[in-house]
Parts: sequence; structure tokens; C-alpha cells
Amino acid sequence: MKLITYAPKDAPTKEEVGILYTDDTVLSLRKMGFAFSSMNELIQCAAEREDGFLQEICAFQNNTPIKEAEIALRDVTLLSPIPRPLQDVICLGLNYEEHAKEASGYSRDAFSGGKEAAVYFSKRVTFSQGDGAPIPLHADLTDRLDYEAELALIIGREAKNVSPDEVKNHIFGYTVLNDVSARDLQTRHKQWLFGKSLDGFTPMGPCIVTADEIAYPPALSISCTVNGEVRQRANTNMLIHDIDEIVSELSQGMTLQPGTIIATGTPKGVAMGMQEPVFLKAGDVVACTIEGIGTLTNPVQA
Ligand code: MG
Repeated sequence: MKLITYAPKDAPTKEEVGILYTDDTVLSLRKMGFAFSSMNELIQCAAEREDGFLQEICAFQNNTPIKEAEIALRDVTLLSPIPRPLQDVICLGLNYEEHAKEASGYSRDAFSGGKEAAVYFSKRVTFSQGDGAPIPLHADLTDRLDYEAELALIIGREAKNVSPDEVKNHIFGYTVLNDVSARDLQTRHKQWLFGKSLDGFTPMGPCIVTADEIAYPPALSISCTVNGEVRQRANTNMLIHDIDEIVSELSQGMTLQPGTIIATGTPKGVAMGMQEPVFLKAGDVVACTIEGIGTLTNPVQA
């Protein structure tokens, strides 16, 4: 299933949880009899009821006349699938070989390491915007705004001291995340938190694809374009530290609750890796695509 959070265009302040049913149709879970106030509540419910719950929704979707629950996609605005994450996003830094090289070429001080031990950092996110919503330029704070297309996973069942071969049973699903970064803030301060956490720096979407629909471990093409020009192109099977390792390691002594979002790192091709970096400017359009999930497109706004 492709799960979404959306706002009906005739009630734009409402947030509803639904299913991206076809390319141009959405199903309202509320109208299907599953009333969730948020995606986080749905994920929590699925965790408590284990596998049966998502299958129940799926069976309903497949077997019941659902005309009443159908809404045309053009009549809704897609929001981030998780507009208000329960906690900050856990991020992997330097987790693709070629990206680690380009980053260390930009600043050896700020971007060393990553190969032997995973680089973990936190991305504060008060509000995540969805597909189509603008990325603020923050021109008063940065003139080195950069993009990072990433596969993000969402934890479905509490993970505590999980072994690598058990990790797949704890994943709820996957989405596309743009780890927007202010490189000057990131390198000026000793830690990356500030440069990664300005308002509007965590677009996600367009949907969460549930884990049952993606072969494990995910080997999906991932790309990013800026104004249609391809900047990043790789495959999620190129992670230095893979999902089994990341989740298992983090779960040793740190409980990962349902709804936890982990961004697995970005491949080569970010602006700071260019010979003469071309950072984002107002009016640019960034599109991050992952095979089987979709495209997350966001314009940069002054
Ligand atoms: Mg990143």
C-alpha cells in the first residue's frame, strides 16, 4: 500500500490519512471506517496489532466496494506522510562511498570518517512539508543551500537490541526524504545539527510504501534533479552501512519506537561536491525520485 497524509482542497486545514489507490485516485481511510487522526496513530495501531491490521486494511481495499471512499487526487493536497514526526529524524552521514569522497573534498575537517563506523546525526524537524510545498531559502542565514535525496525508513515495531537478521521485521515502510542542508552552517559549527534543521529542511513524500511491497533489502534506483538536470543517480543497494546494520546497531541500548524515521544517507552529486558548486537559489525546483515510491518535488522559495 501507498499510504499518504492529505488535505482535501475544500477543507485545506484538515489532515486526513489515506491510500494512494491509483495514479489519480485516493482512498479516505476515514470513509473506509478506519479513523486515524494521523499517520503516527496508524503506525502505532499497526504496531500494537502486529501484522493483522495492515492486512485488514489491505483486504478491505481489495474486496469491498470502495466508491464512497474514493477521492480524485486533483481534489486533495498531498502533505508529508508524517507532517509532525514524533522525534527528530535520525540521519546517516557519508553512507555512500562516492559521496563520502566528494564531501571530504569540500571540507576534510567537517566530513571525515564514515567508513569504519557509521556517522549518525540528528535532524530537528518541527514540521515536514510534502510534495509540491516550497523549501525556504533562508537567505539571511545561508548562501550554500544544498539538496540530498535519501531513502528514509520508518520503524513499525519497537526495536530494542535487535539482531541484523531480525531488522526487516521492524520496518513499517519507506519514503523519499530530501535532507536539505546549509553547508556554511554545517561546517561553521562543530556539529551538523543547526545546518540540517532549519524550518522546511525536511520535505518527505509523496507517500509511505509499506515494507511488504518492497523486496528486502531495498535495491532501488535513487536520483535527484535540479530544474530537470540530473545531479544524483545511484541505487540504495550501495549503502556502506546497510539497513540491517544501522537499525541493529542503533537499537543496542537505544529503543527505536514505532514512527521513528531514519534517513539512510545520500549518494554522490550534491552541490558541494561539484568543482564549482552551484547551490540552490530561489526558483529552483528539486525533484528526488526513488523507484517504487515516487517523486518528491519541491520548489525553492525566497
Ligand atoms: Mg543526508
